[in-house]
Parts: sequence; C-alpha cells; structure tokens
Amino acid sequence: MTTRRQFMFSLSVAGLSAPFLSPAAGAAVSSSGQAFPEEKVLRVALLGLGSYAERVAEAMKDCKRARLAGLISGTPAKAGQWKKKYGIPDRNVYSYESFPQIRDNPDIDAVYVITPNSLHHRFVLAAAAAGKHVICEKPMADNARQAQEMIEACRKAGVKLLLGYRMHFEPHTREVIRMVQAGELGRIKFFEGLAGFKIGDPAQWRLRKKLAGGGSMMDIGIYALNAARYTTGEEPLWVSAQEVKTDPVKFAEVDETITFQLGFPSGAIASCLSTYNFNHLDKLFVVGEKGFAELQPAYGYGPIEGHTDRGPISQPVVTHQTLQLDGMAGIILDNAPMQPAVDGEEGLRDMQIIDAIYESIRKNGQQIRLR
Ligand code: NDP
Repeated sequence: MTTRRQFMFSLSVAGLSAPFLSPAAGAAVSSSGQAFPEEKVLRVALLGLGSYAERVAEAMKDCKRARLAGLISGTPAKAGQWKKKYGIPDRNVYSYESFPQIRDNPDIDAVYVITPNSLHHRFVLAAAAAGKHVICEKPMADNARQAQEMIEACRKAGVKLLLGYRMHFEPHTREVIRMVQAGELGRIKFFEGLAGFKIGDPAQWRLRKKLAGGGSMMDIGIYALNAARYTTGEEPLWVSAQEVKTDPVKFAEVDETITFQLGFPSGAIASCLSTYNFNHLDKLFVVGEKGFAELQPAYGYGPIEGHTDRGPISQPVVTHQTLQLDGMAGIILDNAPMQPAVDGEEGLRDMQIIDAIYESIRKNGQQIRLR
C-alpha cells in the first residue's frame, strides 16, 4: 500500500515538492505584491451568506489572486446589503431558484458553498451542473456516499472540486507537516488531536440532524481527524470510537462528545476528542522517536502558536482564508500541485472515516477496519 507520506516523497523525487515545502501554495506569489492579470484571478461567488461567508468575504479583500465576484442567497434583504457592501453588480446576484442561470455568466469562475452541512451535496451538484468550479466547506457532506457523488458530478462536468480545509495553508501547520516529512521528529509514534467548544443556542441548525448531518464530530472533530491524517502523512487502517452524552435533551439529534482512536500502517496511533460541551480544546500534538511538536491553538482562526522539544515554532501570522483563496486560485487556474491535498478525495477520506466512527459508536466501540 502506498501511504500519503510515500506519495509526498515521490512528489519530491519528481521535483514537485516546492509548493509543499513552501509556507503555503500560492502564498509566495501573493506575498510578492505582484499584480496578476485578470485571467489569473479566480472570480468567486459565495453561496450562503452566513457568518463564515462573511469572514471569507472580508479575507478576500486582501487576496491577490481571488476576488469576490458574485452572491447566491436565499435571503433577498441580505443579498441586497452584501451587494452594496462588496460592490457586486446585479447581474452577479442569484437566489437559490435562479442559481442554475449562473451557467451563462462569464464573470464567475467558481462557486464557494458555505451553507449548513447537509445542503453541501445539493449545491455542489448544482454548481457542477452549471459548469463552475466548486469550493465546498467542511464537512464535505452527510456521508461518504454523498461525497462520492459530488466528486463524480464534478468529474463529469469537467470542473475542479476543492474543500475549505484552511489549515492546509496555515504556516505553523505546514511547518509541523514539513518537520514530520523531513524526519526531524523521527518515526512518528503518536498523535493527539483535541477540538471542541461549548455550543450555545439550542435552536441553531448545528443541533438539527437534518441540516448538520451530525454533531460536534462533523463540525469540529473533523479538524482533529484531518490533522491526524495530514500530520502523520498516513491513512488510518482502523478506527474505534465512543460517545458521551451529558445533555440528552440539547443533543437529542446529534453527537455531543466523541473520543476516537486511529491506527496507521506505520504502527503510529492517534487519540482524538471532539465536543460541543466545553471550551479551550484546540490542540495538535505529535511525537516521534526523536522529538515532538505541538500547536495550541491549532485549528482556530489564529494566531496559531506552537513549539517543539527544541523551542518555539516561529511562522508568520496570517489570515487563513486569504491564503486559502489565493492558494486555491493557483490550484484551479494553474493546476498548481498542493500537498496535503484539498480536493474532493481529501474530503471523501474524512467522510469515510467519520462514517466508520459513527459505525463504531453504534457497535459499542468496536474497531472498524478502513479500506
Ligand atoms: P450560518 O448559519 O452562519 O450560515 C449559513 C448560511 O447558509 C445562512 O446564512 C443562509 O444564507 C444559508 N442557508 C441556506 N439554507 C439554509 C437553511 N435551511 N438554514 C440555515 N441557513 C441556510 O453558518 P456558518 O457560516 O457558521 O456555517 C456554514 C458552513 O461553513 C458549515 O458547513 C460550516 O461547517 C462551515 N464553516 C467552516 C468554517 C471553517 O473554518 N472552515 C468555520 C465556520 C463554518 P442565506 O440567508 O444567504 O441563504
């Protein structure tokens, strides 16, 4: 079996490792201050104008290679406000009903889907049918079956599908990946990933299975899971998981707290925790035979902070979404290589493991083998 780590080494041998070893794909270009010709700028329409879309829209103001060019919203009043605020022409503003007409709009290259999780599948399929490249927020879908359908739809339509995995572009994160890749920590033995917060409003969509697909695991535990994969550079062979529910009323439909363990081909193991029940849980820790690296906070909007057994990890503090969108412009418009990947397959792998985590919970923590 070819592990992710072997794959990255083989990229290196092929002379393609520069984007992986640089702080972030696309960052070198965007930080140079170079002005890009129009055809090198990714024109993005945001679909679903909620709180994260607003963060993305603000971050895109500093992008060198990506520009907010369109809006798709189910709330006309909000679309009107955003249109004014970001200077979007009427012809680039859509409702969910008129969205398919985006096919005929030459001003839009890509649609960024930022709706509640369970709507990602439907809107990614619609964006692909309209012939636009797609960026989809995490978690990719409700399950691996939907994720597979999304990949297939984008493949058939000849458009790219990327996942909003912003940490893949973040310099401290990339430095830890580089250290592991370069063997500076020695053979990796153990990973710990902790991700959680205390969720408020009991009426919000994140607590409704129909819109969220699942609970803390889907929303925040996915950071620890994804980090276990990109940090070790391996795909797990098995997973086991346990759920604890201290508030069965608030969390009647979705998971509250989940612990899960992963076993990797090298023999490395991971222990992770995902929760909607308490704060201050935002950590990545990896230890090998020669040393350790730790990020804390590790998955929030930053500043990300970290150290190793040898001292602090010093990297630039960046706006994640600015770096992400500039990097994604390079991936979409120039076919720039990106490791760890942020494509549909990367999202699908997380969904396959999350499916197995829920299966393990249903089977009282039984170890589930992963293909
Ligand atoms: P919000 O509730 O703030 O926004 C979601 C938006 O989706 C709404 O404002 C609405 O926009 C649109 N929408 C369409 N249909 C519905 C519906 N039935 N119910 C509610 N909203 C609907 O959510 P977030 O912005 O916090 O999260 C959106 C997505 O982004 C999630 O998948 C989440 O996991 C992801 N996310 C990613 C983060 C990251 O760091 N990568 C951080 C936070 C969230 P409109 O009114 O315009 O139609």
